[in-house]
Amino acid sequence: ELVNLNEMFHFVIERFEMMITSTNQNYRIKKDFTQRTIWVEVDPDKMIQVLDNIMNNALKYSPDGGQITCSLLETHNNVIISIADEGMGIPKKDVRRVFDRFFRVDKARSRAMGGSGLGLAISKEVIKEHGGTIWAESEEEVGSVFYISLPYVPVEEGDFWE
Ligand code: ATP
Ligand code: MG
Repeated sequence: ELVNLNEMFHFVIERFEMMITSTNQNYRIKKDFTQRTIWVEVDPDKMIQVLDNIMNNALKYSPDGGQITCSLLETHNNVIISIADEGMGIPKKDVRRVFDRFFRVDKARSRAMGGSGLGLAISKEVIKEHGGTIWAESEEEVGSVFYISLPYVPVEEGDFWE
């Protein structure tokens, strides 16, 4: 299905904003989106699940009041989604392993926070199915950035039949 990614990501963010407000939390979500509309061929339910997973982690592994920066930018043949937090970060040796099934940094701490350690493994699977890539950059005590790159064929406004 051809999906307007700006709209989809916006919709996901909006739901998190409502949840944050209704639970009296103070996370600040900043949006940094390209002005252009990005159309991507994706399974909308699965793609929303991936964005939800990463947004969930950003909140779960960062202190209340932290900033979450959500951006959407285009390169020549890809669109890059990124979600950055100001949280506890991930040790260098573990940054690639967070996408493994059941892998969780610091078992004790993670157990206290709940979850199964499957969110990112599922996300990676979904992104692979879409011909994209997912990766993370992180620094302990500073924060993490999760990136998703998806193949993207730019569509000129004039290419549409009204
Ligand atoms: P769930 O299955 O409910 O998502 P989970 O959050 O533990 O459980 P993943 O989302 O797959 O599982 O993440 C795996 C691990 O990677 C987490 O347990 C956590 O240790 C680490 N991690 C993921 N996102 C972040 C983040 N934004 N900041 C710091 N650590 C993170
Ligand atoms: Mg998770």
